[in-house]
Amino acid sequence: MASQVTAGPAVEDGGAPGISAKYEAVIGLEVHAQLLTESKMFCGCRADYAQMPPNTNVCPVCMGLPGALPVMNRKAVEYTILTALALNCTIPEESKFDRKNYFYPDLPKGYQISQYDMPLSLNGHLSFELEGRRVRAGITRVHLEEDTGTLQHAGSVLHTAASSAIDYNRCGVPLMEIVGEPDLRSAEEAREYLVRLRQILTYLGVNDGNLETGSMRCDANVSLRPPGDSQLGVKVEIKNMNSFRAVHRAIQYEIARQAGLLDMGEKPLQETRGWVETESRTVSQRTKEYAADYRYFPEPDLPPLQISRQLVEEITSQMPELPEQKAARLVTQFGLSSYEAGVLTATRASADTFEAVVAGGLPPQAASRWLLGDVAKLETEHRTRLAESGLGVAGLVRLGNLVEKGSINGTTAKALLEELFLSGGDLDDLVQSRGLSMVSDAAELRRMAEEVIAANPKSVADFQGGKEAALQSLVGGVMKLTRGRADARAVTQLLRELLSAE
Ligand SMILES: [Zn+2]
Repeated sequence: MASQVTAGPAVEDGGAPGISAKYEAVIGLEVHAQLLTESKMFCGCRADYAQMPPNTNVCPVCMGLPGALPVMNRKAVEYTILTALALNCTIPEESKFDRKNYFYPDLPKGYQISQYDMPLSLNGHLSFELEGRRVRAGITRVHLEEDTGTLQHAGSVLHTAASSAIDYNRCGVPLMEIVGEPDLRSAEEAREYLVRLRQILTYLGVNDGNLETGSMRCDANVSLRPPGDSQLGVKVEIKNMNSFRAVHRAIQYEIARQAGLLDMGEKPLQETRGWVETESRTVSQRTKEYAADYRYFPEPDLPPLQISRQLVEEITSQMPELPEQKAARLVTQFGLSSYEAGVLTATRASADTFEAVVAGGLPPQAASRWLLGDVAKLETEHRTRLAESGLGVAGLVRLGNLVEKGSINGTTAKALLEELFLSGGDLDDLVQSRGLSMVSDAAELRRMAEEVIAANPKSVADFQGGKEAALQSLVGGVMKLTRGRADARAVTQLLRELLSAE
C-alpha cells in the first residue's frame, strides 16, 4: 500500500526492479479554502474582492483599526459545518475563536482570528478509490479563520524583492482550513486527495476550487521514515503549489531530496520550503515556527460559539448528494459504467447537465455518449458549457432523439451539433428545409437498392459467389444514392434479403 522511494539521484530510478525500498513517504495536506459568502468574516466588506482596485474593499474592522469590533459571519460558520459534515467530522457543541499573533506586512491587525484548541469540527476522513484500491485519509479538523492581505514583490518571488506592494482587499475574507492527517503515502495519493476534496467543496458550493487564483490553497507536510516504522521523521512543509500538477511534482521532488539527504547520513531540517515552478525544485524559505510562537489566546471580542444540535441537523438536511454517491447512483439507476459515471459527475454542473438531458427524454446511454463524446469536444473547443450554449440541453435532447427515432443518421446529427452548438436554431426546420431526414420510406429505399443491384452485376456475382466484402460496395452505392440519409445497417439487411431472394 505504501509507496516507497529509493535513494539519491533516483527519482528516475524509483520503482526500477532490484533497488531496495528504503523509505516510506508520510504526507499530510493542509488546505485553505475561501468561502463563497457575500461578506467578509467579521465585517460587511464584500468577500468577492477579485475585480476591485487595490485597497478599496476595506473598513476599520478588517484593517484592524483601534476600537473596531468584529461581528461573526453566520453563513461562514454554517458553510464550515457543512463541509465538516461532508468530510465525516464530528461537530463539538462548543467552539471558539482565538488570536494567532504574528507580525507580517499583509496582516494589519498584527494577529489573525483563527481557531486553536476548540475548532468547529474534528476527526473526519476522506476516502477515495485510486488505481483499484481504497485510500482513507483522516481529517484532523476543519476550522474557520480569516484571510490575510496580499503582497506583490517586485523583482522576485522570494524574499529578496527590492520593493513590495500590499493590497488589503483580501483581509478578513472567510477562510476555512482543512487539516489532513499524515495518512498519504505518495505524490499520487496526495494529488488525488486534493482533487476529491476540491470536488466536494465545489459540489457543496462553499468554494470555487480555483488553485491558480489561490481561492483554494494547499500546503504539504512531507517526511520520510523506514518502511513499517511508526515514528514520524522530520517534517518539511511545502508551500506555493498553485496547481494539481505542482502539488504532485513538488512532493515527488521533496521525497527524492529528503531521501538523498538521509542516504548521506544527514537529517532534513524542519523548515518551510517553497515550490519554484520555473526551476522545478523546492527552496528553503524559513525554519518552521512552532505553535507556541504564535501566542494563541481566546479572541476577547467574540463570544464562544454554542453549536446547537438543531443547527447541525438543519445543515445536515441541506447536504447535497456528494460526488461519489452521485456516481454510484448513476451506475445503478441508469446502467452507466463506473468510468462514465465518474466523468459525468466530475463537476456538479456536468452531473446536472446529464440528469437534465435524461429528464428531457433522451435515453441515458445516448445522453452519456453525446455528453462524453461530441458535446465534450465542443465544450472544450468553444469554452462554453452545453447548458449555456445556443443549442442548450433541450436542443441536444431533440437532436439526440432524431437519431434515436431513426429520422436522421449519426453523421448528419454530428454535423448539426457542430453547426448549432453556439448559435442554436430550429432543428426541425433545418432538417426539413435541407432534406436531411433519412430515407425511411421502405418502397423508395427498395427501389434504390434494386437500382444499385442492377448497375453492379460483378459485385452481385462476387457476393453470391461467397465474397462477403462485395456486399459493402453495394451498401456504399445505396448510401450514395440516398446522399447519406439512410441507416447503413438497414440497407445492408435489405440488400441481403434482395440478393438471397434472387
Ligand atoms: Zn471590512
